[in-house]
Parts: sequence; C-alpha cells; structure tokens
Amino acid sequence: MPKTLKEALEKVTEIPTYGERGSLRLVYNLLKLTPERRIEVVKALFKAVESLRNCRECYLLTDKEICAVCSDPNRRKRFICVVEESQDAYAIEKLERYKGVYHVLQGRIAPLEGISPQDLTLEKLLERVEKYEVKEVIIATNPNAEGEATANYIARLLRERFPFVKISRISYGLQFGSLLEFVDDISLEKSFENRK
Ligand SMILES: [Zn+2]
Repeated sequence: MPKTLKEALEKVTEIPTYGERGSLRLVYNLLKLTPERRIEVVKALFKAVESLRNCRECYLLTDKEICAVCSDPNRRKRFICVVEESQDAYAIEKLERYKGVYHVLQGRIAPLEGISPQDLTLEKLLERVEKYEVKEVIIATNPNAEGEATANYIARLLRERFPFVKISRISYGLQFGSLLEFVDDISLEKSFENRK
C-alpha cells in the first residue's frame, strides 16, 4: 500500500464513528472519482473545515463569530429550540416556519459512550434562558432512547431553575428511533406544531 494512502486511511479513522471500515469506504470511494472531481470534493471539504466554527451564542456551525440566525434581528430570542447537532436545526430551518433561535447541545447524553450532561452546552443554555428572559424552550432532540433521556434531563434542569419558563417537546408522530435530520418535512412540521 502506498504510504500516502496508508496515512490518509489512518487520518480518516480519527473522525468519530468512522473507524477502519468507514475510513476504507470513504477513501476508496473518493478515489473512484476522476482526479479532477476528487480534488474538487477535497477542496470543498478543506474550505468548510477551515472556515467553520461554532456560533459563540448558540453553537450552530457558522463561518462568522455569531451565526446568521442569532444575528437576524427578526428572530425572537425568547424562543429557544434545543437540538443535538447543527444538522437538526437545518432540517427545521428548511420548513421556514420557526422564528425563534436555536441551541445546539453538541451531542446527547449517552452514558455507554461516556457522554455525560457536563459534555453538552447546558451551562450556556441556562445562561441564555436567563439573559434573554426566555418564554419557551422547545426541546427537539432525536426521537430515540438517548434523545428522550436527554430531553427529560434538560426539562428537569430547566424546571428547577426557571419554573415559569414553558418547556415543550416536539411531539412524535415521528417514528421512535429515527433521526431528526432524516425525517421528511411534513412529519417534522407536524411534530413541531403539535409540540406538548
Ligand atoms: Zn447562533
């Protein structure tokens, strides 16, 4: 195996959840593209990883210090929708209905993987709820066991600190076990409207 290939494979295994198999799949499939196209793909990736960071306020991915949602004066800061990852917020944004802001947890509570509440951006969430006198926190973690457990934890945490803040959970006509980012628009819109 060429040294460059070996090094590339090793590097890709550093991406969480990829492992050896994921790494082989990514690198070999990339090499199936024409040389021009694979360069284009890698250049786009490079540009993205070089410029993207997390919004200082809500942790959404952004290429600025403050993301487009937080810096939009028409978005209502007193409504916060809590999601696990940026891609979940993008799925909700696609509906063009929600006018509040987001809070990205950067994960979910997963004791088996050693991910505890302290690893999430909860401190900042509490700080924002207080600072903006938030009226409603809509919890939109994924409809699976870990997402549910995370939602319950956050609800309890908020209820203790802010008894007057409305806490809702998007309701699950969504199939249990699915991932928010892959749910079709109509189901997602319904679950958002029927939040409880
Ligand atoms: Zn933001």
